[in-house]
Amino acid sequence: MTKKSKDYNRNPNGSNQWETRSIEEIQKIINKHPKNWTKKDFRGEGKNNQNKILTRKETERSGLVFRIVGGVKQYQNGKLRCSMCGVFKDLEKFPNDKSTSNGKRSNCSECDVVRNETYRKSIKVK
Ligand SMILES: [Zn+2]
Repeated sequence: MTKKSKDYNRNPNGSNQWETRSIEEIQKIINKHPKNWTKKDFRGEGKNNQNKILTRKETERSGLVFRIVGGVKQYQNGKLRCSMCGVFKDLEKFPNDKSTSNGKRSNCSECDVVRNETYRKSIKVK
């Protein structure tokens, strides 16, 4: 009569055990994996990885840097990373560019001014 069934208490996904990880711990895990891994890959839903490494909650914590390479734009908390100064800024800080997939230039407006000046100087000097 001492047998107690606690099976219903089991957590088959084990998702709760991960929620206490700190931002630093999560970032270390991200840094250990390939640069082209997306949030989806870390959740095991992406093309590069099918094993769940981080939970959705963890991948969406603020302050994490996912190092996506190539032509893919870098987003963080709804902000886009400028390709020139490397700072994360609001989308409205980026000039429109219809030729890109997200309709925005990859560098911010401030850097765009610098870029245009550099370009103007380069065509003046002959
Ligand atoms: Zn910039």
